[in-house]
Amino acid sequence: MTPTDQTSAEDIVVIVNAENAIIEVAEGWTTAAKRQGADAQLAPEQVKGLDLADYIGSEVTCVYYEAALKLCRMKNTAICREYRCDSPTHKRFMQVILTPKAEGCVEMRHRLLHESPFKQRLDLRFADREPKLKGFHLRCSLCNSIKLENQSEWLAPESLLTDQPQKLAVIHGVCPNCEATHWRSFSLVKHSAHK
Ligand SMILES: [Zn+2]
Repeated sequence: MTPTDQTSAEDIVVIVNAENAIIEVAEGWTTAAKRQGADAQLAPEQVKGLDLADYIGSEVTCVYYEAALKLCRMKNTAICREYRCDSPTHKRFMQVILTPKAEGCVEMRHRLLHESPFKQRLDLRFADREPKLKGFHLRCSLCNSIKLENQSEWLAPESLLTDQPQKLAVIHGVCPNCEATHWRSFSLVKHSAHK
């Protein structure tokens, strides 16, 4: 799918300042927060001023995004990459576009490209919220692949689905494959970049 400079009311838009603090959330943010049942916690007035790190949660993912924000500012051009943000019932293929704005601010625009249902439900829990669950599994924040404890391979979440839904406690990070994938810059939104 080719990225375009068209905007959609469903897009989840977050604007950070030069220090990576959230200064604005717009468009689909409130709808997405409602869908997660977190509309009070993620109300725009609650998240404005927060450091992006507080919002992302995973330290590894945060370092990855900080590097991308730096790249976006230094190149002064929009960059994008695709990622997965699965729900318990659906594979959700997303794209994020980072666009430089005035005074070091960057707009992060998350867009749902398409989604398809899982055959069964994969029940993932945050390891730090459910310490009783055994295991130390890793989940990639960008492609949602999972590395089970004591295994070396990262597997697509759909390959872990069984007839008996099993609860998996995961810690989020970035898999080697996603880490090696560069952010793509594209000319379509270059014109709108701040000069
Ligand atoms: Zn990955």
